[in-house]
Formats: sequence, structure tokens, C-alpha cells
Amino acid sequence: MQVLSRIAEWRTWRAEARRPLGFVPTMGALHAGHGRLIDEARAASATVAVSVFVNPIQFNQPADFERYPRPLADDLDFCRARGVDAVFAPIADEMYPQPQAAFVEVSRVTDHMEGRFRPGHFRGVATVVLKLFQIVEPDRAYFGEKDAQQLAVVRRMVRDLNVPVEIVGVPTVREPDGLALSSRNRHLSPEERAAAPRIYEALSIAAARIASGEFSASAVKSAALAHLASEPRFKVEYLEIADEQEMQPVERIAGPVCVAAAVWLGSTRLIDNVRCAPSR
Ligand code: AMP
Repeated sequence: MQVLSRIAEWRTWRAEARRPLGFVPTMGALHAGHGRLIDEARAASATVAVSVFVNPIQFNQPADFERYPRPLADDLDFCRARGVDAVFAPIADEMYPQPQAAFVEVSRVTDHMEGRFRPGHFRGVATVVLKLFQIVEPDRAYFGEKDAQQLAVVRRMVRDLNVPVEIVGVPTVREPDGLALSSRNRHLSPEERAAAPRIYEALSIAAARIASGEFSASAVKSAALAHLASEPRFKVEYLEIADEQEMQPVERIAGPVCVAAAVWLGSTRLIDNVRCAPSR
């Protein structure tokens, strides 16, 4: 497995790589969720590339950036074991040798939920994803449904800017108790970890209501919020029901939607979502 940290080295390697090239962008601290993205890429590609880069410009809170885990040696072992061909792991100065002046803004899709509560976050995400696409030059790139709004933002960027990369969405990998795998789960205390599966329970309650014919988003939200309220450790930032393409909140559920939540548990912010559709 090649491990490259310089853009110039990557371009040399890329020129010889067999296509199709499947690409999994990550911030490292790899877990089975990332593993599923890598496996999907491996199954469909002649060459698989992973990037490991904790992107400073997508963090709206410096403390969150500072404490983000960076176990690079473990991540490289993880990639090797999954049959990855090359890892691109640049330092920040390689990606941002001078203050960034050009940014990608995806409007509308970013108006609510994560975009509302993390100002500048998606600008940082869309910008680094486009930069990585320009460097890695993948044929396909794999993103988790765990970050459903991010997936919608990337899909829209690629469409609107004619980026020749196919975007593949991959279902969320969960712990046996339902908690979505996340690099941030390692910050949870044992008590917080024990409470955390209630987020997915609340989303599942919402999905069940929708599947059984409830079309009022506020009724569905009330049921899910009542479940979240039963855990005093939770501080709910939002719980929203939105359409999957534009991520606009809906009042009447008439087609496929995403039920998404952001919840603080102590100093850790967790997000999760489920996709669901009303029965016909
Ligand atoms: P991150 O390293 O957190 O930026 O995530 C890198 C990619 O892995 C993103 O496309 C995420 O959506 C995806 N991902 C993170 N957690 C999961 C999960 N539990 N299941 C599936 N994909 C995930």
C-alpha cells in the first residue's frame, strides 16, 4: 500500500493507477463505518484510494478540531487490512499553503440542520472535497448516509459544477444497540455511551410513525422528541424531517424523507438520521 503525503507524489502515482479508481475521503480514526465505504469501493474498483485529512476549514469550533482523534498508524493498518491501494495523508500546509481564498458554496441544501447550526461547515466540506477530487482524480467517490446532508451537498456540488465523479451513498453502520458508529463516540463517558442509543430509538420511532401512515411532520417530531426528552443527559440541537435531495424541512410527509437529529451529550455532539417513506 502506498502512503503519500505530497500532492506531487500523488499525481505521479495516479498517472499509473488502474481505473476505475474508487475514492473514500475520511478524517481518519477509522471504524467499521469507514470500512463499509472501503469495502464498497473495493468491490467496484480496480484501484482504491483513501484520504485521511482532518480538514481545519470545516470545523466551526477550534476545540472540536484540536481534540479530533488522529491515530494515523492504526488507520494505515486498517486500510492495509481492507486491501486499500493508496492512502493520501497530507498535512494541513500541503492542502492550505496559504490562506484559502476560493471556496465552494452550495446554497439551499445547506440552509437547515447542520448548515444552520454549524456556520461555515459545509463551505469547508465542499471546498475540501472539490480539492481532493482535483488531486485524487477518482472515477467514483463513496460517502456515508450517516452524514446525509453532507451527501446531499456533495451530490449537488458535483452536479452543479460538472465534476466528473460519480457519488455513491453507503448505508449507516451501527453498533448492535443501534448507535451509529462515529469517530466522536470515543469521547463519550460510559454513562453517555449507555444513553446514546436513544437517539436512534427516537429516529426509529419517527420512521415507524411515517411508515404507518402519519403524514404530519409535527406529529412525528413530537413523538421522537418525547423519546429524546426521556434522557436528561440529552440536549437536542435539532430534530428535523426533510426531503432527501434539497434537505428542506417538510410539513406534510408525502414522499421519501430523512429524519435527522443532532444531540449533545455532555461536550460531545452526535448526529444521526434515518431515511423513510410513507407506505402507499
Ligand atoms: P469522517 O471521517 O467522519 O469525515 O467520515 C468519512 C466518511 O465516512 C463520510 O462519508 C461519512 O459519512 C462516512 N461515515 C462515518 N460514519 C459512518 C457510519 N457509521 N456508517 C457509514 N458511513 C459512515
